[in-house]
Amino acid sequence: MTDLSLKIDSFLSKRVLDLEESQTFALEKRADEIDMQLKNEGDFVIRFGIGQPDFNTPSNIKYAAKKAIDENKTRYTASTGIKELKLAITEKFYKDNNIKYGIENIFVGNGAKQVLDVIIRTFVNSGDIVLIPKPYWVSYSQQVILSEGKPIGIEFNDNLKVDIENLKKLIKENTGKIKLLILNSPNNPTGAVYSKKELESIGEVCLKNNVFIISDEVYENFIYDGIKHHSIASFSKELKDLTLTVNAVSKTYAMTGWRIGYCAADSKIIKQMAKIQDQSASNPCTPAQWAALEALSGNQDSVEEMRSEYEKRRDYIYKRLSSIEGIKCNFPQGAFYAFPNISALFGNKLRNSFEFAEKLLEKTRVAVVPGVAFGDDNFIRISYAATINKIKEGMDRLEKFCKEL
Ligand code: PMP
Ligand code: GLU
Repeated sequence: MTDLSLKIDSFLSKRVLDLEESQTFALEKRADEIDMQLKNEGDFVIRFGIGQPDFNTPSNIKYAAKKAIDENKTRYTASTGIKELKLAITEKFYKDNNIKYGIENIFVGNGAKQVLDVIIRTFVNSGDIVLIPKPYWVSYSQQVILSEGKPIGIEFNDNLKVDIENLKKLIKENTGKIKLLILNSPNNPTGAVYSKKELESIGEVCLKNNVFIISDEVYENFIYDGIKHHSIASFSKELKDLTLTVNAVSKTYAMTGWRIGYCAADSKIIKQMAKIQDQSASNPCTPAQWAALEALSGNQDSVEEMRSEYEKRRDYIYKRLSSIEGIKCNFPQGAFYAFPNISALFGNKLRNSFEFAEKLLEKTRVAVVPGVAFGDDNFIRISYAATINKIKEGMDRLEKFCKEL
C-alpha cells in the first residue's frame, strides 16, 4: 500500500465520510450473499427487507418502452423530462389529487429518491434544519446530511404519526433556521395514513411559520379499508405555494428499476432545481420516460389488482404479528410495510433492533430492516411485498425465533 492510499480518507469530503450506508440496500446485499451460500442447500432468504413490489411491470408499459426504443427515442431530452410526460403528470395531479399545475411546475427525475435529493440541495444551506417526522424513511436524513443540513426528528404519537405539540416546540426552539418539513403518507416504514384533519393541522403550523413542505406521496395508491389519500397541496392556494408534492411510478406501477420520479411545485423552485439536473444527472432514461407516460395515461386496472393483493397480505401479516408474544404492532393502513415494536423481546441475548435483525437473518434466514435505520431502535420493519406463501413461511420462522429467545 502506498502512503497515499493509507491517507485516502483525508482526501475525501467530510460530507461523504459523514454519510451512512443505506440500510435497505446493505441488507439486500447481505441477503444476496447468504443466498449464494445456501444455493446448494435448497434453502433461501425470505426477503422482507427492501421495499419494492414483487409484481412485474404491466405489459402495456413494457411495450411502450420497447416501442420508444424502436422509434429511436433514445437521445437526451430536456433535463427535467419530456413535455408529453409532464403534461400527463399535470393531468394525474388534477384527476387524482385535485391540484392544478402547468408543465412549468413539473420536474421529472431519476426516481423519487433523486428528485428528493435535488429538492433538498435546492433549499438547504449548511446548518439549515429540515424537520423529519420519526420514524422516517432511511434516505431523508442522509440526504439532508449530504447537503450539510441538520435533520431533526419529530417525535411520534401513539399512532406513530407526527406529534403536533412536538412539531410546534421544535419550530419555536429553532425559529428562522428551519427550511423544510418532510411528510410521507402513506408512510414508510409505519404504514400509517394521515387523515385530512391531521394534514390540515400540520399545514396550519407550517403556514404560520413559513416552513416549506415536501409531501412524499409515492405510496398513495396503496391504501386499505376504503380510506382516502389526501394531498396537502390541494387544501388551499397558500398550502399549494408552500408544498413540493413528490411522487413516482416506481411503486404504483411496479417500476422500481425504471427510475422515474417527479415533483410539482412553484415554477421558480422548479427552475432552480433544473439547474442542478442540467449540471449533474441530465434527463432520466428516455425510453423509461415514454414508459412512464403509458403508466400514467394508459389502463389503470393493474393498480387496483396490486392494491387489493397487498390488502390481503396486510390482513394476514397483521394477524400473524399480533399473535406473537412480545410483539406489538400498529395496524398499517397503507404502503406495504408493518412496523412492529419488538422491544419486549430485548434482553441479554438481543439488546437492540440491529442485533434482533442480524440474529433473525443468521438463524432463520428472514431479512427485516432494524428500526434504528428509521430512527427508532424498538422496532423492525417488515416489507410484505411478497407472496402469501413467503409471508406465511417468514412468519412461521419469526414466531419460532421469538419463542426460543
Ligand atoms: N420515498 C419513499 C417513502 C420510499 O419508500 C421510496 C422507496 N425507495 C422512495 C421515496 C424512492 O422511490 P424511487 O424508487 O422512486 O426512487
Ligand atoms: N423504498 C424502499 C425501501 O424503503 C427501497 C429502498 C430504498 O430506496 O432505500 O426499502
